[in-house]
Amino acid sequence: MHHMTLAEIARGLADKKFSSVELTQTLLARIAQLDPQINSFISLTQDLALSQAKAADERRANGESGALLGAPIAHKDLFCTQGIRTSCGSKMLDNFKAPYDATVVAKLAAAGAVTLGKTNMDEFAMGSANESSWYGAVKNPWNLEHVPGGSSGGSAAAVAARLLPAATATDTGGSIRQPAAFTNLTGLKPTYGRVSRWGMIAYASSLDQGGPLARTAEDCAILLQGMAGFDPNDSTSIDEPVPDYSAGLNGSLQGLRIGVPKEYFSAGLDPRIAELIHNSIKELEKLGAVIKEISLPNMQHAIPAYYVIAPAEASSNLSRFDGVRFGYRCENPENLEDLYKRSRGEGFGSEVQRRIMVGAYALSAGYYDAYYLKAQKIRRLVKNDFMTAFNEVDIILGPTTPNPAWKLGAKSSDPVAAYLEDVYTITANLAGLPGLSMPAGFVDGLPVGVQLLAPYFQEGRLLNVAHQYQLNTDWHTRTPTGF
Ligand code: GLN
Repeated sequence: MHHMTLAEIARGLADKKFSSVELTQTLLARIAQLDPQINSFISLTQDLALSQAKAADERRANGESGALLGAPIAHKDLFCTQGIRTSCGSKMLDNFKAPYDATVVAKLAAAGAVTLGKTNMDEFAMGSANESSWYGAVKNPWNLEHVPGGSSGGSAAAVAARLLPAATATDTGGSIRQPAAFTNLTGLKPTYGRVSRWGMIAYASSLDQGGPLARTAEDCAILLQGMAGFDPNDSTSIDEPVPDYSAGLNGSLQGLRIGVPKEYFSAGLDPRIAELIHNSIKELEKLGAVIKEISLPNMQHAIPAYYVIAPAEASSNLSRFDGVRFGYRCENPENLEDLYKRSRGEGFGSEVQRRIMVGAYALSAGYYDAYYLKAQKIRRLVKNDFMTAFNEVDIILGPTTPNPAWKLGAKSSDPVAAYLEDVYTITANLAGLPGLSMPAGFVDGLPVGVQLLAPYFQEGRLLNVAHQYQLNTDWHTRTPTGF
């Protein structure tokens, strides 16, 4: 049962091959048995899951249908869940139970999805290895000595290990696409504003975007359908109609113009990954796509710009965690200043503290123009590069990451080495564009992802291209040994 995709589960439930309660019990037992190896969950919600599954079975018995009705999922632990801990991977929020559901959580629950639990993540979504979680590192099911990617490493590892078919995740600089690449999944970061951020604990508000992590593009379409849409509670949510993503999966790729940026294949890219990306290009050419070399000349400035803008926004967003209103509070504070200092010093881990300091520095009088304003100007240049490219091509294709998943601990003492691994993913966040990563092969037994980017609100195009690719390749069907 645990090998089924969301699409297969929907068919099985509709055909009464099994009930949502049976499926939920099977997966909860599997999580209890296997998750200790990978640490992909922070909280399990067995009681909620079983009551949601029972309700979904009743709705089906009463004639209701729907791809998510009775489908088991999990939420990255930064989506607020009423009455259930939402920790953001931090000691700071270890005792935080949100008084309300995030819009994404509420929408998926209304569609009948069953929440099995809350998944592990880098603390406040800062990281790309899932090693900065206060609840311990997550391990990659493909090789338990390697990282699963981050910050949505728990969602990715859980889906890759077949503990459940799909999970929600968020992507500020690659945190859906990079763990998808590292664990052989399909992950989609939607256009900024496509999915509501209400109730999604903020890291960098102008970059954060929620999206689906699953094994196939077909399943990403199903989960995105349940997540996307205008939300008056989020002032950056965009009021654009949501297309039927599943219905849009059958488009021909004949004549599809794919741009391949020459900058993506420069030094720093593992040549074995380059070869797999070229193989996926050939596969898409066979399906009728036309390849064109393009240039994104400002890509080289994206990492420094991102690592000013994201920490700047984080330093502001995280100022609310002061030990007063909610979250961790230090023992016996001597006075107000001591309360602030020790609550934040003890509640936040070192990567979060580093980013708050970098961000506060970049925003301080005297440095604002030199760093923050300059970074915003680069952000515009990065966006302009994409706009120029999309005049000539329909999608852009390249590697998701320059290297496969590294060994646990390999980059933990060198944060900049980890930041450099984000080179291919952060530009989509700076520009607000949708991006997808899908399985493209293996290097030393570790999965490799190919990334597709599209113009604003063309999530459907990305999903269709990925689906056509997956109808003709079988990388996405490979299962890690032991799971
Ligand atoms: N690795 C990037 C960072 O640490 C992106 C994280 C994310 O997308 N949440 O900021």
